[in-house]
Amino acid sequence: MIIVMAVNASEPQVQHVLDRVGELGFQTTVSRGVERIVIGLIGDESRLNPDAIRACEGVNDVMPVSKPFKVVNREFQPHDTIVTVGDVTFGGDGPWPVIAGPCSVETPEMMIEVAHAVKASGATMLRGGAFKPRTSPYAFQGHGELGLQYLDAARKETGLPFVTEIVDPADVGLVSKYADMLQIGARNMQNFALLKAVGRSHRPVMLKRGLSSSIDEWLMAAEYIASEGNTQIVLCERGIRSSDNQYTRNVLDLAAIPVVKKLSHLPVIVDPSHGTGKRYLVSPMAQAGLTVGAHGLMVEVHPRPEEAWSDGPQSLTLELFAELMRDLRALEASLNSNKAIAAAR
Ligand code: PEP
Ligand code: MN
Repeated sequence: MIIVMAVNASEPQVQHVLDRVGELGFQTTVSRGVERIVIGLIGDESRLNPDAIRACEGVNDVMPVSKPFKVVNREFQPHDTIVTVGDVTFGGDGPWPVIAGPCSVETPEMMIEVAHAVKASGATMLRGGAFKPRTSPYAFQGHGELGLQYLDAARKETGLPFVTEIVDPADVGLVSKYADMLQIGARNMQNFALLKAVGRSHRPVMLKRGLSSSIDEWLMAAEYIASEGNTQIVLCERGIRSSDNQYTRNVLDLAAIPVVKKLSHLPVIVDPSHGTGKRYLVSPMAQAGLTVGAHGLMVEVHPRPEEAWSDGPQSLTLELFAELMRDLRALEASLNSNKAIAAAR
């Protein structure tokens, strides 16, 4: 249920409603918009008589929430959540943050080389996997803590904050000690123990969409994190499975971007690298994702993709990344003048 307060509701009226629902055992989230205050209720709704709340001074209406996700629901919080990672912000109308770096953290020299190059081209954050969830147990699993130290060294050299994947709830403390943002990968989107653990951490989280997840399942995964208290969550559309994986690794679900923006106040970014699996598709699909309203971009970049320890075929070279960044600047300017696109975004 949500309680929509009247435009001119006073603070004591809001407090009275909060006290009433508190007595009934509900947890609340209060969203203070420019126009009005919306109170979200979390708890057993059978115990609530909506008319008793409607009768309170300053209440405009009491409405059921149409979806099972609550804290991340835009009905609960009409304004966009802004997620902050150092100086980088995700959400709202600001410039697009761009996260770039290799799939796996390989050597310290390579991390520093790629960090300098992507920063020079305009990237605002670095990425790289130190813990790799690989389909095969025989594939490179990542350097673990050593990889986090290589990322830390690249951050010290360039000032770029970094996001890195976490695969085990037991590692939240370790990874949070180094990382500016924790990534939950597609394979772990419904690892509920992991979601709860990052929900209790104080680091922003990037939540990738699961390999074959519906949009509701994805938002329910975000709800697991948010319901533990951490609402600094960035959603990441990275493509879903289809019957054809010969020409593209996944189907990048572009329509999901404006859909989740309608359903949720959380920012959403696009990952065309895992979304396509092919280098030549990364730039056009990055631009498509941003055109339909993604708040930012994550791409895999490698100085020598043919030597990459993982995901070489989808990694941009340093030159192609620089070219993409030039194209994005032009795109950002032209999009603001297109009304139809603006409406969908
Ligand atoms: C990654 O970002 O390197 C990764 C493993 O992504 P995904 O979880 O989307 O496959
Ligand atoms: Mn990868």
